[in-house]
Amino acid sequence: MAVHVIALDQGTTSTRAIVFDHAGEIVATSQREHEQILPRAGWVEHDATEIRDNTLWVLQHALDEAAIDVSDVAALGITNQRETVIVWDRATGEPIHNAIVWQDTRTQAKVDELARDGGTDRFAAQTGLPLSTYSSASKIAWILDRVPGARERAGRGELLFGTPDTWLVWNLTGGSVHVTDVTNASRTLLMDLRTLDWDDELCRIWDIPRAMLPEVRSSSEVFGSIAEGLPAAGVPIAGILGDQQAATFGQTAFEAGESKNTYGTGNFLIVGTGTDIVRSQNGLITTVAYRIGDEPARYALEGSIAVTGSLVQWLRDNLGLIAESSDVERLAATVEDNGGAYFVPAFSGLFAPYWRPDARGALVGLTRFVNKGHIARAALESTAFQTRDVIDAVVEDTGTTLPELRVDGGMTRNDTLMQFQADVLGVTVIRPRITETTALGAAFAAGLATGVWADLDELRGLWQEDRRWTPTMDEEQRERRYRVWRKAVSKSLDWTDADTEALDA
Ligand code: ADP
Repeated sequence: MAVHVIALDQGTTSTRAIVFDHAGEIVATSQREHEQILPRAGWVEHDATEIRDNTLWVLQHALDEAAIDVSDVAALGITNQRETVIVWDRATGEPIHNAIVWQDTRTQAKVDELARDGGTDRFAAQTGLPLSTYSSASKIAWILDRVPGARERAGRGELLFGTPDTWLVWNLTGGSVHVTDVTNASRTLLMDLRTLDWDDELCRIWDIPRAMLPEVRSSSEVFGSIAEGLPAAGVPIAGILGDQQAATFGQTAFEAGESKNTYGTGNFLIVGTGTDIVRSQNGLITTVAYRIGDEPARYALEGSIAVTGSLVQWLRDNLGLIAESSDVERLAATVEDNGGAYFVPAFSGLFAPYWRPDARGALVGLTRFVNKGHIARAALESTAFQTRDVIDAVVEDTGTTLPELRVDGGMTRNDTLMQFQADVLGVTVIRPRITETTALGAAFAAGLATGVWADLDELRGLWQEDRRWTPTMDEEQRERRYRVWRKAVSKSLDWTDADTEALDA
């Protein structure tokens, strides 16, 4: 029996193929970066044909490195950068514009215009999302507005839209399958969370013809097979999950109250809410966590923090305090605590749960005593405090506390940070042995649909703990420090005004 599963991880900076075996262990990996195209300030594009070519390349190389026969591969799963938009010609398969990446803010004016009627929460009840440039809808509309004749052609069914999952499935199946999964669809601002399908009224408001939208399917089912002549030909494509949802699935955080927090350049927290659609009163996004075949979809709350690991990079690149990111731990270990210093990295305002664009970075509590070790420590602590801010918002929205927190991402190598995280939350923090949770989640979804793994319980059995950090700080200390953090946050607010803007200009 074929017992390997390939995961394709189509990320913002690179595309990877990882071959997993039946135990969920990594057998081979291949990776290729693609160009970040920055035509103007705020614009971020990718060449979708480069991504397609890289995908085929990493697929072949991972197979070669694994030294397995294609007949040993049971399925392929895809995880991807979410929200990024590709529009292509159905007949030729060629994109009509570069991919517009999730970070791209060129559509702000359109978003502001729509927000004038009903505010940024205008579509929140239906979609779970705030009206923003991140979601796909405004980017699709931009391409239809700017590429001559595009809207008419889209209406006639000649053009197709997809996020990178859809684009890759289309290409891997030789242009025969046009689908996406519920988790990706839930980031477009076009899908209704209850019906799990495109909403006609939303399509009308954005002026996006339904004919160009892919079919919305579950996250775990057979979508089609890889076409003849391509690497891994004949292998069924059987899993699709957006990147953060895939990481949650790979962490086997399937049930309500189970969570994962990814510590990268920024942080992404996802907490499951089961079959309930929970509306946040605290600035969190409501999203689909996963759907297996015909089963009811599972939902989640998501909170993102803009600046966490990138603050460590800032200490390295802008202050020169450290030579490498990992050195921050040694520098922080030269002192016993933060020496009274608190660092609020509101470099581009504060996101969840504050939503204060007028905030700017603040390093407060400084005295003559404070040295660079304290600053390193305050920088690490800010990641833990910001995580607590978001988790407190989740607790308020759901009325339940977290039993534990599963973590992944580059910063989880930092022992000092992970211990402080457990302390400041009063919750046990657990890191799995396989930290490639995003790819693993896509593999799990694909293997589940093809009988490699029987059910969620079997997947839970594959998840292995590497390390755990249990809280050691007493309650009084924890709350006192957190109160000081909140005071530090208050010092970062109300910074931008007409004067600062005039001086910036
Ligand atoms: P992404 O997937 O967002 O690119 P990664 O998961 O690879 O990010 O994590 C990289 C981030 O983690 C960088 O911002 C880096 O500064 C930070 N980082 C890496 N190692 C450490 C460490 N030992 N301590 C603190 N931060 C670290």
